[in-house]
Amino acid sequence: MIEKNTILVHVCCASCACYVLPHLQEQFVVAAFYFNPNIHPDAEYRLRLEEMRALCRRIGVPFIEGTYQPETWWEAIEPYRNLPEKSERCWICYRIRLEETARMAADLDIEVITTTLSVSPHKIYTRIEAIGREAVARYGLTFYAEDFKKKDGFNISVDRSKELCLTRQDYCGCLLSREESKIRRQKKG
Ligand code: SF4
Repeated sequence: MIEKNTILVHVCCASCACYVLPHLQEQFVVAAFYFNPNIHPDAEYRLRLEEMRALCRRIGVPFIEGTYQPETWWEAIEPYRNLPEKSERCWICYRIRLEETARMAADLDIEVITTTLSVSPHKIYTRIEAIGREAVARYGLTFYAEDFKKKDGFNISVDRSKELCLTRQDYCGCLLSREESKIRRQKKG
């Protein structure tokens, strides 16, 4: 039986979720949905998955893993692979994940969704919100719109992930972002 004020939260990794999930528990019954076909390689996907599962167990949040289909993700991204981070490439990536979250919520009779993505300073909040609203529209659901990096959210997530000894990733998730991150670090020396 799903409680009326349940929210299905798309989660990308434990280091972002360790702030966002407890924050949302202040006003919702929270369930977490890990659907991230963008994360490569497979070992990284599993690392983030298992940390996320353990965090949910620790804070009493039901955890659902989506289907991992990186090939389908690559097909969708292929036309945009030469674009940099924070471009159409990422908007498509957000859309893939939020549409599946909306579909899962509708299946589970959950009326509200959101995502941990906005806690990252590298994510464009206005895009996340617009894509989230589009994703829920076809199911008649609500997208809970909050830029989680605000009100010190990002800094709290960093401090808490250190306290909990969580992995802080040095790239967003896809292999393209891993290369971009490597180049940024090389430039910094
Ligand atoms: S950089 Fe992140 S948001 Fe952008 S396409 Fe890669 S995994 Fe998706």
